[in-house]
Amino acid sequence: MSDCLFCGIIDGRINATIIYRDDALVAFKDIKPRAPVHILIIPCKHIESVLDLEPNDGALIGQIFQVAARLARELGIAESGFRVVVNAGPDAGQSVFHLHYHLLGGRQMGWPPG
Ligand code: AMP
Ligand code: ZN
Repeated sequence: MSDCLFCGIIDGRINATIIYRDDALVAFKDIKPRAPVHILIIPCKHIESVLDLEPNDGALIGQIFQVAARLARELGIAESGFRVVVNAGPDAGQSVFHLHYHLLGGRQMGWPPG
């Protein structure tokens, strides 16, 4: 989608610090990090939110969690702990409408999330 910020990052029109890329996914540093490690993992396919997932997206979601685990190990937060978070809709504070998984770690986190 030409007017989507994250589609712009995927196709290189918008700069980001990309740390992982394959045919289906891209991972990059969040521009406003909320933790010492704050990475966004996104599908290359434009999906607006969790609400728009289809049955045949199951493999894609599995890949996202595999990449999250791989990056958690590479970035040194696998042992200390981390969160994988998806915000959906206004109450959760979703601000970009291209599905993205936040990988957060490197500090103690509160529960429940604010
Ligand atoms: P959410 O609020 O769950 O929709 O998350 C959107 C995330 O995208 C926020 O954590 C923003 O800081 C992040 N973000 C917005 N613009 C950019 C950008 N150009 N590059 C990297 N991260 C961004
Ligand atoms: Zn998009």
